[in-house]
Amino acid sequence: MCPRPMWSRHILILGGTTEARGLAAALTAHPDLRVTTSLAGRVSRPGAVEGDVRIGGFGGADGLADWLCAEQVDFLVDATHPFAESITENAARAGRATGIPTVVLRRPGWRPGPGDRWYEVGSLDEAAAALPGLGHRVFLTTGRLGLAAFAHLSDLRFVVRSVDPPEPPMPAHTDVLLARGPFTVEGESSLLRELDIDVLVTKDSGADATSAKLTAARRLALPVVVVGRPPLPEGVDVVPDVAGVLERLGLAP
Ligand code: NAP
Repeated sequence: MCPRPMWSRHILILGGTTEARGLAAALTAHPDLRVTTSLAGRVSRPGAVEGDVRIGGFGGADGLADWLCAEQVDFLVDATHPFAESITENAARAGRATGIPTVVLRRPGWRPGPGDRWYEVGSLDEAAAALPGLGHRVFLTTGRLGLAAFAHLSDLRFVVRSVDPPEPPMPAHTDVLLARGPFTVEGESSLLRELDIDVLVTKDSGADATSAKLTAARRLALPVVVVGRPPLPEGVDVVPDVAGVLERLGLAP
């Protein structure tokens, strides 16, 4: 007799987001499922994740496809960050190559509301180009990577907020604020005032945990430069939340 696995289905979650953690928690409530979350290993203190965890890259789409076959994965969920473009492309390719059902869990993006002064741009370089003229003191919340795009703006003063310390190159006048959300509207409003911020720069992450800064900016009538998301690979199946993934798996929320 061949040994049979203890689980009925093996789900691989490509993680690194709050939604991925929430999905792992929801799926581990089903004892017949094996649930593995994969993390890139970029953050020094990743939050606790339910189920199995593996860390590190797979070696591109082919490496991911090999891993899916070797570990007998039945269902792949790409629950990575909306700006994690390469792994999302790899997941789509590996899903196609192996025939393993694949879904992208992607939280909806932010939309401007009445009173917002948004400048929507397509990249960090475009965000940098938009800054001169919008203000002198910049609150930069685009993450610890990619600050090179702003490095030439030596006339402006930046406050960079990130979970882990950012890496050079970065603008000459940069103060770093290490913090992890969620943040409150009151806290964000006080911070923007205390730091005397003129303009906020953000990616369209779309997370509730970090949206308070947008409300705070609206209250203070500050301009916000919003970097739009990279496009999803063609033809992928996208759901907006954990309930959508459960539905694809035929599980009750
Ligand atoms: P990326 O550019 O799309 O990925 C670069 C490479 O990192 C991938 O090709 C893959 O390596 C590896 N990788 C990425 N996510 C992985 C995962 N969940 N498990 C295993 N390997 C992974 O991604 P990124 O923008 O550097 O983001 C890295 C991670 O941080 C993502 O998991 C994402 O969810 C999280 N995150 C990103 C942002 C952001 O703004 N980009 C913000 C918050 C959290 P191989 O090709 O070797 O497999």
